[in-house]
Amino acid sequence: MRQAMSYILDNEIKFLPGVGPKRAELLQKEFNIRTFGDLLRHFPFRYVDKTRIYAIREINEDMPYVLLRGKIAGFREVNAKQKRLIAIFSDGTGSIELVWFKRIPFFQKNLHAGNTYTIFGKPTLFGGRLNIVHPELEDVVKEEGKITSSIQAVYSSTERLKDMGLESRAISRLQNVLLGMALPRIEETLPPYLIEANRLASLREALLNIHFPQSPALLKQAQDRLKFEELFYIELNILRTRTKRVKANNGFLFSQVGEIFNYFFHHNLPFELTGAQKRVIKEIRADTGSGRQMNRLLQGDVGSGKTMVALMCMLIAADNGYQSCMMAPTEILATQHFKSVTEMLHGMSINVALLTGSTKKPERRKLLEKLRLGEVHILIGTHALIEDAVQFERLGLVVIDEQHRFGVAQRGRLWEKSEHPPHILVMTATPIPRTLAMTLYGDLEVSVIDELPPGRKPIKTVHFFDSRRSHVFGFMREQIAAGRQVYVVYPLIRESEKMDYKNLQDGWEMITQVFPAPQYRVCMVHGQLKNEEKEEAMQAFVRGEANIMVATSVIEVGVNVPNASVMVIESAERFGLAQLHQLRGRVGRGAEQSFCILMSDVKLSNDGRRRMEMMCSTNDGFKIAEEDLKMRGPGDLEGTLQSGMAFDLHIANLATDGKILEYARQVAEKVLQADPMLSSEKNEILPKNLSKLKNDNKDYSIIS
Ligand code: ADP
Ligand code: MG
Repeated sequence: MRQAMSYILDNEIKFLPGVGPKRAELLQKEFNIRTFGDLLRHFPFRYVDKTRIYAIREINEDMPYVLLRGKIAGFREVNAKQKRLIAIFSDGTGSIELVWFKRIPFFQKNLHAGNTYTIFGKPTLFGGRLNIVHPELEDVVKEEGKITSSIQAVYSSTERLKDMGLESRAISRLQNVLLGMALPRIEETLPPYLIEANRLASLREALLNIHFPQSPALLKQAQDRLKFEELFYIELNILRTRTKRVKANNGFLFSQVGEIFNYFFHHNLPFELTGAQKRVIKEIRADTGSGRQMNRLLQGDVGSGKTMVALMCMLIAADNGYQSCMMAPTEILATQHFKSVTEMLHGMSINVALLTGSTKKPERRKLLEKLRLGEVHILIGTHALIEDAVQFERLGLVVIDEQHRFGVAQRGRLWEKSEHPPHILVMTATPIPRTLAMTLYGDLEVSVIDELPPGRKPIKTVHFFDSRRSHVFGFMREQIAAGRQVYVVYPLIRESEKMDYKNLQDGWEMITQVFPAPQYRVCMVHGQLKNEEKEEAMQAFVRGEANIMVATSVIEVGVNVPNASVMVIESAERFGLAQLHQLRGRVGRGAEQSFCILMSDVKLSNDGRRRMEMMCSTNDGFKIAEEDLKMRGPGDLEGTLQSGMAFDLHIANLATDGKILEYARQVAEKVLQADPMLSSEKNEILPKNLSKLKNDNKDYSIIS
């Protein structure tokens, strides 16, 4: 048995030869690497096969690392002040410069013109010439006792780490040192019987091969093992939590469907519910009537009528004497929900209130008071709902709209507003596979609205390059003449907000020139407007007085204007698929044929082109979501999808490792079936590693 204190992987990273306190501090800051074990789990994000030798003629500056073999033809004279060494390297197909800024005397001494070398490095373009800075030289730098591999791992680094000499290759050297000293002492993290039954690589083999692959097949095995382990523990944790929740039986009991619901159903419901809406309401009723706490994800494409489902569930809560709240990601959306809910409840004695960041103080005080006394039945709002001052008398149901905008932690704070956990309904228009959803959002049930309200015509989507803009204007004129309204949307991407804002202003000027007053009325909504201005513009459009709304993607979520039938998306290549689909969903809500026009620059990346093609070829949110998942790299995923996640993933990629995820879940299910408390001897290490997982990551999995 090991003693926790002296386990080698728990050593602080600063004690690893080659690190020291300064680099240690930076490693922690940049990558949260604190221990030896953390460094080993800083996995390569890419590999370069060093068995393929390139000809200099073939290479260009876009290529990652390449292996070259050739001769040093000579050295270039540089002025002594410049402190660099430049060698001309050629292989008969061309030549390239090799450049050193450091250890110059060493290389001057050891490199000889006329000798053949195998070099490895990243080609870059400098001063119009291809060169490789600080190439790896196979025959010069041979270190004793080094683990070698013909497949070179590439690690992510950061500018600050590179400044401290910790670029990818230096990280690889650290891994080498670390594995060299620690490998025989690394302890297995999965029970032997699971390793055997699932034919997994051992942890030692996996760690060795993930950093220094001994062959492509061993690399694959290493990746599979490490991904499996990561996902297995996450699933094990989720399933365990679920078992506890189901056992705890501590949900509010909505035992009846009463007068409020029935009155609404018979007098106020403006349309027949779709079959899918009815089914989902039944599912929710069954959950909330079971005595257990509901934790449910409601997936439904844009325009599928999720809001109505939420409203009817809130009425059931009211029937049982509970308050509910509904949280939306933007103020515009919260306001719109508030209005439509208020309207739909006309003639009923249900108190609906709105709370956002801009609710004035006196009004806010009154509202909070009423909320505490239970006089407000339904509270609709933004993040403002999370604040501590917001206290309910009896909060029974929390609805979260478009949840991808909220982190798990934020949802957690809503949960804490009630001694008992309220029922949770999370609504999203991004349909994702069930296992994935449960992994992303913790332990939850999934409902799907897979049917649009009747009479919707599929939206026609086309893609134009910017050069066809006058054609698009012509089309807009026709549509406006036919009484329709048009959205023109500009991207707003946080990092370049100023530039986007300028694009929007330019767009506004162009549109108002092409569509001049008084014949046309154009309104504009964006994040920098005052609330009253925003509101006025929105209302002009909602009432049909404005023909065109120029907006940033703030209108992305939820705005509902059935008479708007044209959505023009400017710089469409800058939006992700999910976002494009959301935006498109703003039209096609009325009886008229609707159109979505994607405008883009002629220069499109491959991904950009694929996104345009995908949008033009289907309206199916599920297909688009799947493609979106496939197209996003893990990095991209982190920012959006994974922002809702309770766990950081080091190696598995939820977009591409769906199969391993499914498999890991099945294995976790079986393990728990056989040993629900994980108390048997053969499972001894499972609870230990689970609690580690929880220490490393805040455990929000019970929240939804
Ligand atoms: P989303 O699922 O995108 O949130 P909404 O709840 O905003 O969709 O609904 C979109 C539009 O469809 C709204 O105007 C809503 O009133 C309408 N709607 C919802 N359900 C039905 C239905 N069963 N029949 C007709 N229209 C419906
Ligand atoms: Mg909605």
